[in-house]
Amino acid sequence: MTAATPPIGSTVLGYPRIGPDRELKRALERYWDGRLDQAGLARVAEDLRTRTWTELAGSGLDSVPGNTFSLYDHVLDTAVLFDAVPPRFRELGLSAVDSYFAMARGHGKTAPLELTKWFDTNYHYLVPELGPGTRFRLAGDKPVTEYREAAALGIETRPVLPGPVTFLLLAKPEPGAPAGFTLLDLLDDLLDGYAELLARLAAAGAAWVQLDEPAFAADRTEAELAALRRAYDRLGALPERPRLLVAGYFGDLGPALPVLAETPVDGVALDLVAGGPAAGAAVHSLPGLRGKTVVAGVVDGRNVWRTDLEAAASACASLLGSVGSLGVSTSCSLLHVPYDLDAETGLAPALRDRLAFARQKIAEVVLLGRALTDDSPAHSAAIREATGRARRAGSARSRDDRVRARLAALRPEHRRRAPAAERAAAQRERLGLPALATSTIGSFPQTSEVRRARADLRAGRIDEAGYAERMRAEIRRVVAVQEEAGLDVLVHGEPERNDMVQFFAERLDGCTATEHGWVQSYGSRCVRPPILHDDVSRPAPMTLDWTTFAQSLTSRPVKGMLTGPVTILAWSFVRDDQPMATTADQVALALRDEIRDLTAAGIRVVQVDEPALRELLPLRAEHRKSYVDWATGAFRLATGAAPATVQIHTHLCYSEFADVLDAIDGLDADVTTIEAARSRMEVVGDLDAAGFARDVGPGVYDIHSPAVPTVDELVRLLEAAVAAMPAERLWVNPDCGLKTRRYAEVEPALRNMVTAARTVRRRL
Ligand code: GLN
Ligand code: ZN
Repeated sequence: MTAATPPIGSTVLGYPRIGPDRELKRALERYWDGRLDQAGLARVAEDLRTRTWTELAGSGLDSVPGNTFSLYDHVLDTAVLFDAVPPRFRELGLSAVDSYFAMARGHGKTAPLELTKWFDTNYHYLVPELGPGTRFRLAGDKPVTEYREAAALGIETRPVLPGPVTFLLLAKPEPGAPAGFTLLDLLDDLLDGYAELLARLAAAGAAWVQLDEPAFAADRTEAELAALRRAYDRLGALPERPRLLVAGYFGDLGPALPVLAETPVDGVALDLVAGGPAAGAAVHSLPGLRGKTVVAGVVDGRNVWRTDLEAAASACASLLGSVGSLGVSTSCSLLHVPYDLDAETGLAPALRDRLAFARQKIAEVVLLGRALTDDSPAHSAAIREATGRARRAGSARSRDDRVRARLAALRPEHRRRAPAAERAAAQRERLGLPALATSTIGSFPQTSEVRRARADLRAGRIDEAGYAERMRAEIRRVVAVQEEAGLDVLVHGEPERNDMVQFFAERLDGCTATEHGWVQSYGSRCVRPPILHDDVSRPAPMTLDWTTFAQSLTSRPVKGMLTGPVTILAWSFVRDDQPMATTADQVALALRDEIRDLTAAGIRVVQVDEPALRELLPLRAEHRKSYVDWATGAFRLATGAAPATVQIHTHLCYSEFADVLDAIDGLDADVTTIEAARSRMEVVGDLDAAGFARDVGPGVYDIHSPAVPTVDELVRLLEAAVAAMPAERLWVNPDCGLKTRRYAEVEPALRNMVTAARTVRRRL
């Protein structure tokens, strides 16, 4: 640390790493298939790092983040760096790289670490498993090596790592850890590792290191805040260390900011987008920040809209008197947005003008940084000009007066169906289903023929009519398989859907799917979130033909299959100029029309999937009620026109339910299907205990496994479910859709499921 340490100035907190053309994804898949060796993989990785640093340094940022590259996941990198490798992986005796991938993906019978959501984003990280026996030690040097690698290119980087407290809070106790064990017990040991790493980075010449503590954007206990204080008092007091920037993003740091302000760290990065004005206002009352760098995160790192630069500049300027040195940045890492808008050539110009992807956001940060450090008229003119353009583009947004009028005319009764008991009676009468009725979650195997048909249509090798013919052939097969297995409520199998959100986004006005807008979801897996940019409406029925075709083939009820408003929003980039609730209601109205068409055509059961219900739950408890209100309100608006005789299902997939039982109840669906096989049906008892009064379909087998569940296993699970809840309210179904499975697995699995249901039904 010398007086000559450069200020942070303009920067970004992190950057995508999958590659602008998903180079890393392809290299990983080739490596795993044995078509690329370790050296080949390392070359692709190095090339991506070089390109990223060169681009970031060349863009005019004052400070470039380092260690943002990862072969799979940055939390896994950190676990391995500090040697938190569970014994089951050590015992495999693999090379370092293969042991790393075994932790990520499993190896033979060795199960991988659990994958879970990174806060409230769509990125998923690997959960470190820690126990009282965990001994952290600096076992690797990735941040140092990458620092040197960039330095050799003449680029000074600021290595970025998860902070020690967030790292521990993201971990979980290893299986079998004693009841009294708490993860924070490991803090001091972990701090030794961080201290050693910081010393090495200092020796290598690093001027700044960024430690990310987003866990403090959520509610935290006193003990956790005390751990934060202890961690940064200790790391700040190290004699030989780089300057420390602690980044807290995805919301307002709340009580953690005063804690950090009093520690000897050199800077804090604040999320002024997700944290709102409160996050900035807090700065003025903290004298501890007067001697520190404060990095204002004013360019949204998680969404794709251009920044209103004048507003952002004034948010930054308002901090000037209260901080030692002001930096400007994205609100969080750019990991969550696609690389480059320029790759997106098919977008309507009016929409394009409103968008900024990672590269464009960097340009925004650079402009803001220049205006802050140098108030020459040229910079303010550039800001003014860019702001004018962004505002003009934003106001060119098309309004749909018909949708607006419908929203304005909504009354509480639009979100209300007949009382549940009355519906249950009406449905019993119309559907005549047995207790323990059998069904599936929607998708059937996406065969190579189905995928080829979609590719052929895209390439113009077949026309719409030819495509429809192939889809109908698949639907015939799906219906036949289900009749043969003896299922009670059938599905059409969703062969026509590439993705459960994109399918709807492509059919709704006001939404656009991108061509290249890939974002890493986990490891090598990327998703392409659609953009919800204007008022949403449904120009024509979206699912009607496929569903009614399937229904024409059978006398058993066929379940219409829709994706719910919350999930459509959660897995898209959503306009930020109006409340999420308004956009959700617009989507809900479109779904409401779809349900009306389906029921008018004689469809008796409709499923509205909400696997993302838990995902958007706000990090802080104080914001949760309003979320649950709009999320359940939108679902009930979508389903509220269905007559009592129409049975509404919802599928919540693998979400964690404990925090959202009130939301599940608030959906008021007739049947709720959830994952339960992994918890051996315990969740059924939880739901019953929570007073959940309607029907539940706890998944009886995990569709992630190719194994065919035996009748005996299924009978045992169903008996556990029947012991926890009345059989009349129980459904029998797999955990999730079957699209990743093969028919050879699905056909016997469904036959066994039906046999098991019949067996248990006979014993009632
Ligand atoms: N209906 C969808 C399917 O079966 C649900 C997918 C999901 O839960 N993610 O594929
Ligand atoms: Zn699911």
